[in-house]
Amino acid sequence: MPLVATDAIVLHVFDYLETSRIFKLATRELGVQSVLARGARRSSGRFGSALDLFAEGVAQLDVRPGRDMQTLTGFEVVRSRPALASDLARFTAAAAVSECVQRVVTEDHAPVAYEIAQRVFDALTTADGPAVVSTTLGGLWQLVAELGFAPNLEDCAACHTPVAADGPASFSHAAGGVLCASCASRAPGARRLPATARIAIQRWMSRDDSPVPSESEGRAHQRLLREFLGHHVTDTRTMKAWAAWERGEWR
Ligand SMILES: [Zn+2]
Repeated sequence: MPLVATDAIVLHVFDYLETSRIFKLATRELGVQSVLARGARRSSGRFGSALDLFAEGVAQLDVRPGRDMQTLTGFEVVRSRPALASDLARFTAAAAVSECVQRVVTEDHAPVAYEIAQRVFDALTTADGPAVVSTTLGGLWQLVAELGFAPNLEDCAACHTPVAADGPASFSHAAGGVLCASCASRAPGARRLPATARIAIQRWMSRDDSPVPSESEGRAHQRLLREFLGHHVTDTRTMKAWAAWERGEWR
């Protein structure tokens, strides 16, 4: 099998045996790949001394179809993002994004998911305070939309009646979006979503800008997105990095 060169971002890294490392990479062409870097702990030569969490560059992979783990033969680091590791709020947010990408991205969505991850990690390197949560929520909602699960926010998710944009609306994870008053009355478990929250999600998904909610609104958004992911995308109960991010363990 030929060597493949692909843009890649390090999502996870751990030591393996005495001399090697295993990386989880988000790649632009091949989705998420587990790769073994033999000798990576011994010398920085082929892999560069800056090959660490959230670093980005060009990975050389020896790809064998059907294997769970591929071989990393080289990595040229273009961007190392040390600012993510040096700040706990940024780190827990980036780790939650990383965990989410590992869980949900397939080869079909690889190029767009890669660009979303790249954009979020870049934005997080300079984000502070509530902007950290906002930036992260924006990227994750864009990922949800790319996967085809964008929630209905303008029309009723059940009957497609327009729902007034300027007031609160019922939001049903099961239905996949807001509900009109009539459908909401028959939907147990729907939660009330203020107009500002609905607009924020729309703005995040549109990628035009990144609204910055207050700390308590940010927490409500984290919970809403986790519940939504759990209904439509993946089992969120085992997402440890997400749990740390949502608990705000940097505070
Ligand atoms: Zn309806």
